[in-house]
Parts: sequence; structure tokens; C-alpha cells
Amino acid sequence: MGKLAFWAAVVALVYLGMKFMGISQRRGDAAQRRDAAGRDNSESMLQCAHCGVHVPSSEALLSGTRAYCSSAHRDADA
Ligand SMILES: [Zn+2]
Repeated sequence: MGKLAFWAAVVALVYLGMKFMGISQRRGDAAQRRDAAGRDNSESMLQCAHCGVHVPSSEALLSGTRAYCSSAHRDADA
């Protein structure tokens, strides 16, 4: 019976440990998402040299010093 209580305690500790790690991991993910969102919000917008639409710098296609919203507009302007 003492052995059973011991193993029950071990299982409970492992379960709690996994649960705690899961929670801290989710918190880390949430913090990472917040960081990513912050970067997105502060991301500079570039204007397409062909149609004038504004696109985030991470999505803009650059050709020299000019930015384009799509490869079609980059090719059309080339
Ligand atoms: Zn365009």
C-alpha cells in the first residue's frame, strides 16, 4: 500500500510537472506572438512604384531602390 501511494505521488508529480511546463510553454508562445505583432505594427510600409498601393516591407518585392506589391508589377515596371 505504501508502494502504491509512492507511485501515485510520482505520477501526480509528473502530471503536475507536465502541466506546469505546458502552461509556461503556452505563455512563451503568447509572448512570442506579442513580439511578432509588435514588429508587424512597427513595420514600415512601402509604396508600389507601379500602382501606388502600400505593402509591408516584409511583403514588398524590391528591385533596386524601388518596391513593388507583386512580381507582376515589378515585371511591368522593369
Ligand atoms: Zn502594384
